[in-house]
Amino acid sequence: MSFDYDLIVIGAGSGGVRAARIAASHGAKVAIAEEFRVGGTCVIRGCVPKKLYVLASRFRDEFEDAAGFGWRVGDVSFDWPSLVAAKEKEITRLSNLYAETLANSGVELIRARAMLTDPNGVRFSNGGAARAGHILIATGGAPVLAPHIPGIEFGISSNEIFDLPKFPQRLLIVGAGYIAVEFASVFARLGAKVDLAYRADLPLRGFDDDLRLRLADALKSAGVAHRAGALPTRVTKCVGGLEVEMSDGAPLTVDSLLVATGRRPLTQNLGLEAAGVALRENGAVAVDEHSHTNVESIYAVGDVTDRINLTPVAIREGQAFADSVFGATPTTIDYEHTPSAVFTTPEIGTVGLTEAEALARHGAVDIYETQFRPMRATLSGRGERVYMKLVVDGANGRVRGAHILGPEAGEMAQLVAIALRMGATKSDFDATMAVHPTMAEELVTMRAPARRLGPQS
Ligand SMILES: Cc1cc2nc3c(=O)[nH]c(=O)nc-3n(C[C@H](O)[C@H](O)[C@H](O)COP(=O)(O)OP(=O)(O)OC[C@H]3O[C@@H](n4cnc5c(N)ncnc54)[C@H](O)[C@@H]3O)c2cc1C
Repeated sequence: MSFDYDLIVIGAGSGGVRAARIAASHGAKVAIAEEFRVGGTCVIRGCVPKKLYVLASRFRDEFEDAAGFGWRVGDVSFDWPSLVAAKEKEITRLSNLYAETLANSGVELIRARAMLTDPNGVRFSNGGAARAGHILIATGGAPVLAPHIPGIEFGISSNEIFDLPKFPQRLLIVGAGYIAVEFASVFARLGAKVDLAYRADLPLRGFDDDLRLRLADALKSAGVAHRAGALPTRVTKCVGGLEVEMSDGAPLTVDSLLVATGRRPLTQNLGLEAAGVALRENGAVAVDEHSHTNVESIYAVGDVTDRINLTPVAIREGQAFADSVFGATPTTIDYEHTPSAVFTTPEIGTVGLTEAEALARHGAVDIYETQFRPMRATLSGRGERVYMKLVVDGANGRVRGAHILGPEAGEMAQLVAIALRMGATKSDFDATMAVHPTMAEELVTMRAPARRLGPQS
């Protein structure tokens, strides 16, 4: 059977772009369809603009702390439209760069929405259609506006918050995941009055409890009002904003309501039924360890498969797919030891098992922890604390988890992940020379366990 392409990729985000580019470098004839902007969630309305806003928010502390170091900083003010415009310029530059890279790699970019018609056929919203030997679904995910309460449509998602025409002086954020807490931290530092409402007793379910507790305290100190156990029950428009009734009684009047309660894989209206592609219960494309669906010609990578929804993971999956299918190098991915960061201020950097997970999996664990005032805080007078924790396997001394809260924690997690992946033990950490004076040196200078858990204790 003859095809128009060896591969059609649907979605030019983190996973799709990498897969298309690498498949083309292996000699495949490739087309990629994108219905919005090349670069996907990460570049256009995820990691990149988010981190730019995080950096913007941290200048507040810089100005305040400078006084302790002898600087006299005059009146400062923040201009939201300038930040939005600067962000837009940068993501446009990146998006163009992605499109250029695709073109230079010989990948044909089809700026249209794509839909499967059968296991090898794709129809485009611009009226075109094509057939390919392989199809890769890399359509990512989208925010869900939940809970489904009256007026929830007046809320916005992370997609819209980046481009609000006016800075929200009063902002209610609903959600407890990393996106919710990151925006709470950003907008509080930029000067908004922020309320953070969530169902649980602490934000960041799935992270180590010691980090969750300390982060909640730090956000409170930064002015974020926590409404733990409270959710909105009704939203109505009122003069100058929104009136939000809350399950814990006290209503709120806000300029914006950011709903950050979750995301869903983008598998609807994609023609997956026509192609016979099986989905998991939550709507994600079901794949095996090779990102292969139940249909011979169709693969899927990234958030649409809902494995670990992070950009580096989508990129790795895209690369592994292209190397396996077009590069004759069967490749699977090691998801263990995937480090991650939460770009609040203070930041979280984490890799490996939480204390609770390690205890459940390994039975006996030693917990090493330290809490200290970073050097900068000595002169600035800021009451911040850095927290670090190593979760060590009681049976063989292997470091199973590292959890950090403090400045540059994400940078530290990236490096410590290499050690954990290589199977480093606590004695390897101990034998590693420190870099002084740094915060990271504390990772190799924790001597005695704070507590021993499990049968050994
Ligand atoms: C606010 C926010 C902050 C984030 N921060 C981080 C972070 O700090 N670090 C991190 O690692 N991850 C972060 N993420 C997650 C990260 O953005 C995603 O994991 C990553 O983008 C997934 O890549 P992907 O290729 O699977 O999908 P996406 O990047 O979402 O790309 C999918 C693309 O497919 C297109 N598309 C969808 N359907 C069709 C169709 N039918 N036809 C044509 N095109 C289609 C979409 O327009 C989109 O461009 C963040 C996400 C959000 C929302």
